[in-house]
Amino acid sequence: MMVDDINALLENLKFLEEESVRVISSNMETNYQGFEAWAVGKIMAIEKPNKEAMYRVLRSLWLTKYEVNVVALTEEVIIVKFGYVEDRNRILNMMPWLFDNCLFAMLPFVKDKELETYEFNFSSFWLRIYNIPLEYMERQIDMDVGKAIGELVAIDWKDRNGGWTEVMRLKVKINVSNLLRRVVRLVGRNGVEMVYAIKFERLPAFCYYCGIIGHTTQKCKKKEEVSDSNNLGLQYGNWLWAPPMNPNQNRGIWRNGIEIASTQSIANDTNEESKSDTRE
Ligand SMILES: [Zn+2]
Repeated sequence: MMVDDINALLENLKFLEEESVRVISSNMETNYQGFEAWAVGKIMAIEKPNKEAMYRVLRSLWLTKYEVNVVALTEEVIIVKFGYVEDRNRILNMMPWLFDNCLFAMLPFVKDKELETYEFNFSSFWLRIYNIPLEYMERQIDMDVGKAIGELVAIDWKDRNGGWTEVMRLKVKINVSNLLRRVVRLVGRNGVEMVYAIKFERLPAFCYYCGIIGHTTQKCKKKEEVSDSNNLGLQYGNWLWAPPMNPNQNRGIWRNGIEIASTQSIANDTNEESKSDTRE
């Protein structure tokens, strides 16, 4: 039956009382936004944590303006429906999000984009590099080091008084399916190369044998293939985890001097938007 036929039919019908009840979508009454406020997420671990528990915990941490709805599209890919673009962008900027030591990678939802083409393995992390001599703690060296590690997203270099922090702290987008980067080599003005260890903030569980995230050393399949399991010669270890920051002392200081470096980051897009708004 065609739409026109149905309309003609409906015009001749007498409706019952219960057929006259109108449905008013609660969506229409709020500023709840559509797919432009959505994100797509994927748990980047072989053994998936309990999804329901993960949704519950993340939702409670996100403190969004509007309710967040979650739809599992496939076994791996999840649509996270934020109600508000600003909520979505803020949460994406605060990545990485971890649950049960597993990375929950998220990207902005793009309408009609094939699920396979989302690059979930590119994820941003805050890295710290300690013990760099004070004379090399400067903005340009920060930027160069960050670019040498991955796609530099932001640097965090000023303390509350505008002076240098004692740690080089960088936000870098890295490919999490690659081996974790352990060191950075810095050639000093005297031509001497110095090697510094990289530490990751909020690094998910990773294998000390393979050096990649997504499975633990205990669950490693490759390790089992090695006959002499007593002599693994582990090349990776818990030293890659940055020590926790003291939230009372340091967090406030570190938040102060963050400078967005990447032109492709969402934060930057938002900045561009707000800039053009003020011009009008
Ligand atoms: Zn492994």
